[in-house]
Amino acid sequence: MYKTKAYSAASATSLLASTKIPRRDPTERDVQIEILFCGICHSDLHQVRNEWKSIMPTVYPIVPGHEIVGRVTKVGSAVTRYKPGDLVAVGCLVDSDRTCPQCKANLENLCPNQTLTFNSPDKHKTAAVTYGGYSDSIVVDEHFVLRVPTNLDLAGTAPLLCAGITTYSPLRRWGVTTGKKVGIVGLGGLGHMGVKFSHAFGAHTVVFTTSPNKKEDALRLGANEIVVSRNADEMKKHAGGFDFILDTIAADHDINAYLNLLAHDGTLTLLGAPEKPMPVSAFTLLMGRRNLAGSIIGGIAETQEMLDFCGKHNITADVEVIPIQKVNEAYERLVKSDVKYRFCIDMASLQSE
Ligand code: NAP
Ligand code: ZN
Repeated sequence: MYKTKAYSAASATSLLASTKIPRRDPTERDVQIEILFCGICHSDLHQVRNEWKSIMPTVYPIVPGHEIVGRVTKVGSAVTRYKPGDLVAVGCLVDSDRTCPQCKANLENLCPNQTLTFNSPDKHKTAAVTYGGYSDSIVVDEHFVLRVPTNLDLAGTAPLLCAGITTYSPLRRWGVTTGKKVGIVGLGGLGHMGVKFSHAFGAHTVVFTTSPNKKEDALRLGANEIVVSRNADEMKKHAGGFDFILDTIAADHDINAYLNLLAHDGTLTLLGAPEKPMPVSAFTLLMGRRNLAGSIIGGIAETQEMLDFCGKHNITADVEVIPIQKVNEAYERLVKSDVKYRFCIDMASLQSE
């Protein structure tokens, strides 16, 4: 075991602060990674503040972070795919049982015994729970380590590991392509990646936002149209027109307003994870035989496919790079939807702690 610098929160009401955490020495299948950048996902904030207490209560101290890009510093004797110096990435998963039907189908994201990158029981018992990417280094089983295309900006690549795969996977799963009309609801970290991918897949892409000041950006990111969702007349114009809608809103909202926008047999897939259940009007689903679905990140093979797609098409997240000392300020801005479009921590800033 060794110690590494990190930022952690001690309770749901504490700020994140500098600390030291244990990491295991790499076992034969492990890759040790020096973390260069880590994105800030709204899920980090939900969990630091214990907003998912009814589903997955937070164990404190918590070290969040699951959008990790770094450089390999050491590998175990059985590691075959990576060597020291390689640029690699780690997303939301660091382990799974590898024996269940989902794991066998490359859907580790649906494994009932998965280990999340932070706030999951730590099988290696290095600590009570796993600790995430707001830290200097991490040790991860080779199977859960991804290769980073060398042409991409590293800070802009980190958010691909959650915001990227979480939007890429459902857009692929529900066949988004040329000729389809797609809605992306919420222009934050997930939403802006959803726009980039929907556009890259050739769909007519419409952004729904509560922030009129994001209009120019939405068009630049690849949207064909933008709708201010608080304007009832604008919403009405789109009723019944969509093949597919991705809902990325992080707070309580009326999903019926978006279900109404689906064409018959259209699907609305929820990605956002507000704590409380949201009421659904049966009639909105019945009329038009509409589908309401959910999706969670993606499997490891698909995450690599997404990274390779981004390398080929030069797609990265739009990031505001911050030193870790500004992480608490960033959280306050995230709550206010004031981020264009992902905060990304430059982990070199941890050296001065
Ligand atoms: P984010 O950057 O904060 O973006 C969320 C966006 O939702 C905001 O930018 C805002 O967009 C919109 N929004 C916020 N509050 C709203 C409200 N009260 N009413 C309507 N719209 C509102 O968050 P994120 O990192 O993209 O994450 C979004 C959600 O997805 C979170 O709940 C997160 O936990 C969840 N998530 C799920 C998965 C998964 O696998 N399913 C993975 C990662 C994250 P506008 O300003 O454009 O309105
Ligand atoms: Zn995330």
